[in-house]
Amino acid sequence: MNKFYNNKQNLLCNILDKAENTHNLNKNEIVELLNSDGNLLYKSADKVRKKYKGDFVHLRGLIEFSNICRCNCYYCGLRSENQKLDRYRLTENEILECVNFAVNSGYKTVVLQSGEDMYWTCERLCSLIKKIKEHDIAITLSIGERSFDEYKKLKEAGSDRFLLRIETTDKNLYKQLHPNMSFENRVQCLKNLKKLGYETGTGCLVGLPNQTIKSLADDILFFKELDADMVGIGPLIPHPETPLANANKDNLDMALKVMAIVRLLMPDINIPATTAMESIRENGRIIALNSGANVVMPNITKGEYRKKYEIYPNKICINDSPEKCINCIKSKIESIGRKISTTKGYRKDAL
Ligand code: SAH
Ligand code: SF4
Repeated sequence: MNKFYNNKQNLLCNILDKAENTHNLNKNEIVELLNSDGNLLYKSADKVRKKYKGDFVHLRGLIEFSNICRCNCYYCGLRSENQKLDRYRLTENEILECVNFAVNSGYKTVVLQSGEDMYWTCERLCSLIKKIKEHDIAITLSIGERSFDEYKKLKEAGSDRFLLRIETTDKNLYKQLHPNMSFENRVQCLKNLKKLGYETGTGCLVGLPNQTIKSLADDILFFKELDADMVGIGPLIPHPETPLANANKDNLDMALKVMAIVRLLMPDINIPATTAMESIRENGRIIALNSGANVVMPNITKGEYRKKYEIYPNKICINDSPEKCINCIKSKIESIGRKISTTKGYRKDAL
């Protein structure tokens, strides 16, 4: 029994040593780490984060500017078939007010996130982006799939980064969960974003029905192969008004393990402690910051709307003001000895 335990520990230590030194692991080694209890893995990821990214945490102000979506993803509360959701769309002026708040509060990045809302044509978005760019602030878009030409125009208008999770690299599972969407197109979108010079973020959901440990290992290898600049891992939080209402809820530990392995294999990228992690467990974002993450995305959408951006239930801070959110997260970050960055926090920035 003891011998078995020691062998297991030795194997884990060897894999972690290899990861810390070479930042490369094969699929079997990743599977071993995903099957471990995570404690050694988190320490190792924290060490690599400190070496490559230092103690600074980058804050990105999240503006949820529309909950209208043409897609019907099986897990998401904004899916088009959810008729119980009260839909909204912020006006350009309302978005610019949020941006002003962000600038005055010291944010160096705003993230514009929405459902796939086609009212927001490329032209409208470009005009908005140009107005935001009158401030010295980086812009991240998270608006779903568009054509190469549209991504190009949005980049030329001044956007810097783009978040588009692959969600899962298991093609069959992808197909089951995304009616009328194509896995190949999702991958193509990510390649287009990289080609156009966006800092490109992707990521996956952890806890999807029939998702295996091996397929999570494939997700991690996919991020590395794409050379993603940011990777966000979301534990699935089942939404009662979706077909995945009864899916497994207990996905935080596996999500943290996936995130920590991403840090080991991609030491210099930006990794957010995701809001979903905090929505499942109190201090989930702090746990993530101590396990490889170096970014937090506080919500700066106004109160009346943030309740309606219900991607998943029990989202944190829906009754708080943007002012309260920033103060709360700042003091939590400082309480673990980390510092708030005052730079835009690009992947390749020197420490
Ligand atoms: N429409 C855009 C951006 C908004 S959705 C897009 O899909 O890219 C942002 C992310 O929310 C998605 O990538 C998905 O991973 C996550 N998400 C959706 N439903 C979720 C749920 N039930 N639990 C956890 N994360 C969820
Ligand atoms: Fe729409 Fe994004 Fe939700 Fe899919 S995950 S339904 S694209 S908001």
